[in-house]
Amino acid sequence: MGAARPTIGGMELTFADIRAAHDVVRRHLPPTPLWSYPLLDRAAGTPVLVKHENTQPVGAFKVRGGLTLLAAMTEAERARGTVTWSTGNHAQSLAYASHRYDAPCTVVMPGGTDQGRVDAVEAWGARAVPAGSTLEDAQRRAEELAGTSGARLVSPGDTPELLAGVGTLYLEILTDRPGLDVIVVPVGSGTGAAAACLVAAALAPGCAVIGVQSAASPAAHDSWRAGDLLSRPNRTTVAGLATGRGFALPQRVMRAGLADFLLVTDEEIGAARRLLATAAHTLAEGAGAAGLAAVLSRPDLFAGRSVAVVCTGGNAVPAELETLVV
Ligand SMILES: *Cc1c(COP(=O)(O)O)cnc(C)c1O
Repeated sequence: MGAARPTIGGMELTFADIRAAHDVVRRHLPPTPLWSYPLLDRAAGTPVLVKHENTQPVGAFKVRGGLTLLAAMTEAERARGTVTWSTGNHAQSLAYASHRYDAPCTVVMPGGTDQGRVDAVEAWGARAVPAGSTLEDAQRRAEELAGTSGARLVSPGDTPELLAGVGTLYLEILTDRPGLDVIVVPVGSGTGAAAACLVAAALAPGCAVIGVQSAASPAAHDSWRAGDLLSRPNRTTVAGLATGRGFALPQRVMRAGLADFLLVTDEEIGAARRLLATAAHTLAEGAGAAGLAAVLSRPDLFAGRSVAVVCTGGNAVPAELETLVV
């Protein structure tokens, strides 16, 4: 393990940053469980471990990034607070971390965002501001608010501290199981998958990191395949995987480190959510089931390999709850 020196893509971040972030995250949160279930193994035709980020206090892995970012800010920066844009888990993550660090936080959310997600942000003491109807509208409003208030504008995809923070979950997985063959990571902006590449390169070079996105929102997938930052239609109903463009920082890291990138349909994600409910007594939101959906969709690729899928979140919206039983 000695030479933990991944200079993947020559980017701003190294494995050492992820190690340092783990010291921060661990002060706030215990490691999440990494469990297996015989019925899942049977359905997948190969041993599958589930990393349970759905058990985080905000119900998703992004909290690790939020805490790492707030810890890295100076007292003066924290006093001015943060402004960001999001429809869901990034919002809750930053709201939670700001609550823990006693910093003001404003989240701009597109109109039509699920009310439960708005409530969750406000319940941590953050300010939720509705704007427009798309994430692009929300981003513009957030930029204006940051400009006038002096708060720090936080990009959900291009902020190195967030990437370092979410990397800590892969540090936990690969410290536990350095012999794993594959980790399957749901991708929206790509911070999680990029961080996984950095950790695997340092701790388990034999472990392949495979990304998965919804075929209805393939911007990150297509950007990775093209080696360019592309915009694509964003039609998935799966929050967390719904992005319309590739983000520069994670794409740069994924370009060098990702072994493969798969697409699954929203229907396949729904089936994987139901399987997690029945076989692993786990409530996953769509994005949290996408890794398993990829494994189920490609037995040719995964048979005989030891696999970990990340259940990235459990914040199922009402429509996802209704379709758990069909
Ligand atoms: C944000 C999110 C993702 C995608 O993560 P990125 O780091 O943006 O690629 C996956 N699952 C859930 C539950 C999320 O909230």
